[in-house]
Amino acid sequence: MSILNLGIIGGGQLGSMLSSAARKLNIKTIIYSDDSLSPAQNFCDEFICGSYKDKEKILEFVKRVDIVTYEFENIPFETLNEINKLKNVQPKPSVNRLIQHRLAEKDFINKLNIRTTRYVNIEKKSDIDTLNDFLPGILKTTTMGYDGKGQYPINSISDFNKLNLNFADGYILEKLVKLKKEISVIITRFGINNHSIYEPIENVHENQILKHSKIPADINDKILIQSKEWSVLIADELKYIGTLCIEFFIDKNDNLYVNEIAPRVHNSGHLTINAYNVSQFENHIRAVCSLEKKPLEKLSNAKMINLIGKEIEPYRKNLELSKNQFFFDYQKKEIREKRKMGHITTLI
Ligand code: ADP
Ligand code: MG
Repeated sequence: MSILNLGIIGGGQLGSMLSSAARKLNIKTIIYSDDSLSPAQNFCDEFICGSYKDKEKILEFVKRVDIVTYEFENIPFETLNEINKLKNVQPKPSVNRLIQHRLAEKDFINKLNIRTTRYVNIEKKSDIDTLNDFLPGILKTTTMGYDGKGQYPINSISDFNKLNLNFADGYILEKLVKLKKEISVIITRFGINNHSIYEPIENVHENQILKHSKIPADINDKILIQSKEWSVLIADELKYIGTLCIEFFIDKNDNLYVNEIAPRVHNSGHLTINAYNVSQFENHIRAVCSLEKKPLEKLSNAKMINLIGKEIEPYRKNLELSKNQFFFDYQKKEIREKRKMGHITTLI
């Protein structure tokens, strides 16, 4: 059989980890990114740099690949859709279009009778006057947000006026949930009635950025079962192929809410590399390349810590790790504040 060439759009650490997983399966990866310094070029087989709107460059990429997937959601829908006319794109562009828009995403989840935070669309300045019901809340841009970017805490109507909002961008206001904890469920869907689902992961965020994750999550059985059921329902309804992540909130009264869906592998799932026989990355590759599903086996409990900004420095200087610790350096050249630079997983 000739070697499969998998195209991956996006060149961050998720692209790197997908490439490493593909290599183990004898699959070649060709990464397309608009950032010439993409860390994933150190891990993939071929790297193409170009804008996500550069039709010629994209065509060059498409010619070299058999199947296309992506590692981040903010890719122009038109681009994915055009690629999909020529090569099989998984997950489908329509899935990405739905999820990259916070309002469409939340409407979709609510239609499945799954609880989300209360939210309201904000299109113009006068929408703001009637919002007391949603305060305190968090204002979010409807598109392009990640790691808390494009989010503003709002305690009173006057907070809006202090922000210089461009309403053309589109916003939603979400009521703040009094969080007890956050969890995520990672699921890989291979087809009808064919899933691989990992146990819920408990996540702690600092400044809206994931700081650490662990399994098992300290949650009751009802939440454990409901979070998995909702995740299967969402994956099925999307007819999803590949790995996706559902982020959940749990409030002080143990109510479960879906926060958001990530149509891709996810930071909270990094611990699956060491804690399971098949990682979220390998599972994604298996699903999008139509390889067989391997039964999932948990090998160990685990904890993952993100190394953000300068926190990577001591580890790069060969800080000693114990045998049950695994250090990942994303090989980003520039250390920046709030930038995810690497992570450490500890098996416990
Ligand atoms: P991003 O796309 O940046 O991950 P999220 O909507 O997941 O955006 O928000 C990031 C984090 O901010 C969440 O994981 C949570 O800790 C906090 N947060 C966001 N929205 C709410 C909310 N409505 N109530 C409480 N906390 C929130
Ligand atoms: Mg999130």
